[in-house]
Amino acid sequence: MEERITGHTKLYALIGSPVGHSGSPAMQNYSFAKLGIDAAYLAFDVPLEKTKEALDAFRTLHVGGFNVTMPCKTAVAQLVDRLSPAAEMVGACNTVVVEEDGTMTGHITDGVGFIRNLREHGVEVKDQRIVLLGTGGAATAIAVQAALDGASEIAIFNLRDEFYENGEKTVEKIRKAVPSIRSITMNDLDDKEKLCEMIAKSDILINGTKAGMSPLDNIMPVSEECLHPELAVADVVYNPRETLLVRTAKEKGCRAAIGGIGMLLWQGAAAFELFTGKEMPAQEVMEKFFE
Ligand code: NAD
Repeated sequence: MEERITGHTKLYALIGSPVGHSGSPAMQNYSFAKLGIDAAYLAFDVPLEKTKEALDAFRTLHVGGFNVTMPCKTAVAQLVDRLSPAAEMVGACNTVVVEEDGTMTGHITDGVGFIRNLREHGVEVKDQRIVLLGTGGAATAIAVQAALDGASEIAIFNLRDEFYENGEKTVEKIRKAVPSIRSITMNDLDDKEKLCEMIAKSDILINGTKAGMSPLDNIMPVSEECLHPELAVADVVYNPRETLLVRTAKEKGCRAAIGGIGMLLWQGAAAFELFTGKEMPAQEVMEKFFE
């Protein structure tokens, strides 16, 4: 530590509450040390009502950048000076870069991280037909990034719960911002027949819901009869590491069956790149912290 921290060391941070469980400090500090970057990363427990004070303090202290977790993601998007196109559409940000003059630019790396993880498994989204389950934070970021990256059709399905309306808004925003998309629709996850029909015509199925996450780990968000060999299946859930959906996709011979841990890695790697302009040693980080 005494060899790493100097009078010039740049501070990076995570804010939100709780933050104690986060793997970000370990990932980011390991990568700073590995690449010889004079920087350190700390987690700060910041409740929603203190978000503005935290940002003001970061400007004063010339913090280089910070990540944001719940419950501060939407508030931070409203407080920064600029937003990336994806963060603007999602209405939330998880990564903020702070310029020397204090100007803050908000980004959302969840969608980028998810799509990078698909690519690492040989799955591209350009010109592909996607069924996306979910309209919460993770799923919205994925819908926006998939549309920006050229997916041809996205059919979003969600339960008619408190998240459904957010899905309708996301569909409208994507239609306006990405007029080249052939089709983007919002659908009821309880309409099992339509869901299965859409999956039959699709190239990629994404679970962006909590279904499959402990303690919902015995829940399959789609019936296994809907899965087919031409389909790539990807989950955002990484607890358990292999969800029931991913396991079933493997058993059914789907062309890819991808868990959520890679999304966690690559969203952090995207933040690291925004902070430093350098690539995170992702393979090493994966082996050291996630395997
Ligand atoms: P959220 O609370 O914003 O959204 C929850 C979503 O799950 C909504 O669409 C809701 O309708 C749906 N849902 C809840 N219970 C359901 C059920 N029984 N059946 C079907 N749908 C159900 O949550 P979020 O932040 O978007 O997180 C969703 C999942 O994504 C969590 O498991 C989280 O751990 C995971 N996640 C993973 C990463 C990663 O890096 N891999 C990043 C963010 C979130």
